[in-house]
Amino acid sequence: TVTDPQYDEAVTRLEKDFDIPTESLNIILEEFIREFDKGLGTHGHSVPMIPTYIYRLPTGKEKGTYLAIDLGGTNLRVCRVDLLGNHKFEIHQEKYMISEELKLARAMDLFDYIAGCVSTFISSNCSDGHPQGQGGWKIGFTFSFPVEYVSRECGIGCWKIRFHETISHDVPYPMLTFVHISPKDNFTLTTAPSSVGPRASTVPTPSAKTSLSFFRMPLTNVNATVVAIINDTTGALVATNYTDADANVGLIFGTGTNAAYVEELGAMHKCLKEEEANTIKEKLKKHGHRAKMVVNTEWGALDNDDVVLPRTKYDHTLDADSVHPRTQAFEKMISGMYLGEIARLALVDLMNQGILFADVEEGEDERRRRREFWDREYEAWLTANMSAVESDTTPNLTHTEHILMTPFTQPSTLRDRQLIQRVCQLVGRRAATLSALGVAAIVRKRNLIEGHKTCHVAVDGTLVNKYPYFKERMQETLCKIFGEEEAKRIVFVHAEDGSGVGAALVAMLASQEM
Ligand code: ADP
Repeated sequence: TVTDPQYDEAVTRLEKDFDIPTESLNIILEEFIREFDKGLGTHGHSVPMIPTYIYRLPTGKEKGTYLAIDLGGTNLRVCRVDLLGNHKFEIHQEKYMISEELKLARAMDLFDYIAGCVSTFISSNCSDGHPQGQGGWKIGFTFSFPVEYVSRECGIGCWKIRFHETISHDVPYPMLTFVHISPKDNFTLTTAPSSVGPRASTVPTPSAKTSLSFFRMPLTNVNATVVAIINDTTGALVATNYTDADANVGLIFGTGTNAAYVEELGAMHKCLKEEEANTIKEKLKKHGHRAKMVVNTEWGALDNDDVVLPRTKYDHTLDADSVHPRTQAFEKMISGMYLGEIARLALVDLMNQGILFADVEEGEDERRRRREFWDREYEAWLTANMSAVESDTTPNLTHTEHILMTPFTQPSTLRDRQLIQRVCQLVGRRAATLSALGVAAIVRKRNLIEGHKTCHVAVDGTLVNKYPYFKERMQETLCKIFGEEEAKRIVFVHAEDGSGVGAALVAMLASQEM
């Protein structure tokens, strides 16, 4: 049996390790702003700050019917979005399976399949209307993975096998796919193994010559055209903005994390070297500092250079053992894919010190099986388990006891359960604190609550939707940074279906400019 001082000391040490001291908040925030600025200035910076070429957000008054294709890891979703013009919309959707065979098939086969699904969808869902203008129904295409844009209609997607917690190290992922969109050859794809993390941060830019051929994509034999490509984060922002004009930041907290926001066009220095430079210069001349563009930050890469974030030894272990060390540093401390694993490493450390599960009466075999269980990376202790443990308010932590017993068969004492809950709180709280720092950096950089302005932050993703107190903890940190009154004007709102509604809206914005 361990003595209490040893237990107390271990808890105090963990509390200190996972704490982000109040006096560090501003230092971190300022460093984040510097990184955002670097990313806006040049290509190839670790925080990519990807231009989306979306120059304005919807007003909420737009009307019409637009389609969306949402291509995720396992499903293909086709949506019809009816914009009603009064900040309201209706959405109808159908899901189509992407079979394992298709995932490994030639890209053209995949896109033929998509074209077939869109065609089926249109015949059963769009017969009551007529598409406006040339090219048939206008489609916005969401890739639920990073997209590097060449212009708004053209992109390079990163098609990857989903990076699940249970995936084993010998699975070849992620795969990079260059999606060449041209009127002549429809979609053409080439695949190469990616050299980057779960939310790829650097996607190679195509040569100027190839990028010129990227253009609008007519789907063969389908009365529809893909006019815009977006990612889920941009979608969350645009979709929410249709119903809520104060929404100017979009965040995703799921397997990974990302943020999009509206930037001044004049700050997008790197865009002035690109093909769209003339359009941008024109807009700047006409609208000055009112000219804007939505930026997809891919903020998971913040602090890749290990400048400001206080990392624990568990973070170092997690990073070193990850498939792509020294990438996605911010994301590795925040997102659903990693939180469970950080907590597991801390819990294993407590077991090794003879502090956790020390008082459980068990034989050699049981002890060995317990060890085997906790030694399994990314499998034993999931972020969803942390959510459940943090939600447990029973005096004896009976829910936690149940989680440990079924299906894991891990007997525990009350003190063990309290320790597990404490570790989950520390890891979960730090994730929310860091997320708030990212938000605060955007808010300060763009003066989003200056004067009496209100900033609505559209959030989506299983982590933020399910993890208890995540938003409340973000708000606490914002209070420390901006003061209570000011922080109240930063409001987290649930994002509308970004991948469906957002894509359809961007298709609408794109076709208005065509
Ligand atoms: P994606 O980001 O892949 O589009 P999701 O938004 O559904 O998908 O996020 C998946 C992530 O959510 C997984 O990494 C998983 O760990 C996490 N997750 C699943 N259930 C919960 C839960 N109850 N609480 C917190 N996180 C969860």
